[in-house]
Amino acid sequence: MATDALPHTGLDTIVRAAGMSHQKVSIHKNVRIEDVSGHLPEEITGQLMSVEISPHVPDKPELSGLLMGNFAEDTEYGTLIFQLSEDKTDISPFCVKLNIFNNALIKFNIKTTNTNGKTTDYLKLNRYLKKMRNLEYRRFKIVNGDEQILISSCPHVNDVFTSLEIDIVSKLRELELKTGRFLGIPHYFSESFLASLHRLNESWEGLMENKREREFNKLRKQQPIVKFTTLKVILKGEHDEVLNVLYSEERGWINYNSIGFNPNSKANKALWQSIAKKHGPFTLSSRSRIYKAEEFYDALTNSLTEQLLLQAVINLLNQPVNEPSCTKSNITINFKVPVQSGWSNIQPIEIEIKDVDPLYNKLETLIIAEDYVSAIQLLERYKDGFLEDLAFAYALDGRYDDSVVCAEEAIRIDHRSIAHFTKGLAYAGKGDFKSAYSAYLLAVHVCNVATYPVPKENLEKLINVKKIQTDEVYDQIIELLNQSRSPMKDNEKCYCHSGRKFINCHGSL
Ligand SMILES: [Zn+2]
Repeated sequence: MATDALPHTGLDTIVRAAGMSHQKVSIHKNVRIEDVSGHLPEEITGQLMSVEISPHVPDKPELSGLLMGNFAEDTEYGTLIFQLSEDKTDISPFCVKLNIFNNALIKFNIKTTNTNGKTTDYLKLNRYLKKMRNLEYRRFKIVNGDEQILISSCPHVNDVFTSLEIDIVSKLRELELKTGRFLGIPHYFSESFLASLHRLNESWEGLMENKREREFNKLRKQQPIVKFTTLKVILKGEHDEVLNVLYSEERGWINYNSIGFNPNSKANKALWQSIAKKHGPFTLSSRSRIYKAEEFYDALTNSLTEQLLLQAVINLLNQPVNEPSCTKSNITINFKVPVQSGWSNIQPIEIEIKDVDPLYNKLETLIIAEDYVSAIQLLERYKDGFLEDLAFAYALDGRYDDSVVCAEEAIRIDHRSIAHFTKGLAYAGKGDFKSAYSAYLLAVHVCNVATYPVPKENLEKLINVKKIQTDEVYDQIIELLNQSRSPMKDNEKCYCHSGRKFINCHGSL
C-alpha cells in the first residue's frame, strides 16, 4: 500500500494494467509491506520498499504472419488502417510482420518491400512510424476489403528509421525528381554517401548533360547491388482462383547447386549447369500424399517461425508417408528470371499449391494394377511425368510406332531410362527383331534398374498374346535377357568394342 503515490489506484489495478499492457511498472518508494499471507519473513513486514511488477512476456507468438498491403489514415478517429492488398497477385508497397502473442500484446514490424522499394513509399512509412511512436494514433486496424481483421490500441513498433536513413532517402527522392529516373532504396547508409548525394543535388542545375550522366552513374556505383529472393506462395482453388497468398523476402539467392539435382544425361547436365550459372529460370513439380492443398498451405504458415519459406516447403514435401495414400496436392515451384530494380537484384520464386485432379489418382490406380492399356488416355493427359509408362502402354496396345517415338522421348530426358527395353519390345512387336536386338543390347548395358527377369517376361508375353512369328535373332534376344547384369559406368570401354568410353559411344545422347 502506497502512502502518498497513486492514492486512488489499488495495487491490484496496477498489477492488471502491467499484465494487460505488457509493460513493466515500478513503484519506487513508500510501499509498506503488510503480510496477510504469513509467508514472508518477519523482518520484512512493516518495512518500506520499492516494487517492480514485470509481466511475463511469452517468447513465442500464438499467431504470426507476413501481410502485404497499403496504408490509409482516418484522421477523424485517429486510426491508421492497413489495407490488405486486394489484388493478390500484385506485390504491394508494404509488408507487415505481425506477431500476436495474445489480445493485449501485438507486435508489428513494418517494412517497405524490396520489390516495390520506392523512395516515396519509404518516406510515407517513416511518417506513419513516427506518428505511431508518438502515440498519435488511437487505433490500428487491419482490414481486408470491408472485413475488419484486427483492431489494436497501442501497437509496438520494432523498427524505426534512423535520421541518416531518412536524410539519404529524402535526398534520393529529390534527385529522382530532378533527373526523372528511378533510384530506389539503398541497402547501406553512410555519411559519405549522404555527402555525395547532397553535392550532386546542389550542383545538378549547373551541370552539362554529359557531366550529369557521368555523375549520376558514379553516385549509383557507390552502392553495391544486393541480391534478394522473393517468395510468393499461392493457394489455388478448383478453378484456378487465388484463395490465399503468402509472401516472404529473403536476402541472397538460392544456391542452385544445393538443390541436389543429378541430371543423368550429358545434355541435361550441360543444360542444368548453364541454368545454374546464369541463375536462369526453371520449374520444379512435386506432389504431396500427406496434405491437401489447403492443409499444405496451413502447415506451411505454421512452420514459418523457425525456418525459411522455401526450406519449409521442401521439408513438407520430404515428410515420409506412413501409410499408402493417393496423391492429394500438386506443388509447382517456379524459379523466375532475376530482375534488377534500383540497388536490388531480385529473383522471384512462385510456389503454387493446388488440389490434385481426381483423374490423376485414377491414373495411379490403373498403373499400380498394371492396367496400362486402359490408362492410355490418362497417360496421354499427364504425358510429361509418364513417358516411360505411355511408351510401354502403346507397345502392349500394338501401337508400336507410337511406342518407339514415345520411348525415344523418354530416353532424351534420361539416357538410362527403362524405355530402352520398351523400344526393343516395340520393334519385336513389329517383327523387326534386328532393331529389337540392338535396342535390347543397349538396354541391358545402360539401364539403371534391375533388368532381369521382367523385360524377358514382357517380351515373351507380347509374342504369345499377339501371336508373332519369331526367328533365330529372337532367340538371341531371349538369351541376352536371360542373365542379369549391372549397367556400364560412363568411363568404361563401350560394349561394342569401339575402344571409346561408354559415355562417348553407345552411352552418349
Ligand atoms: Zn559403343
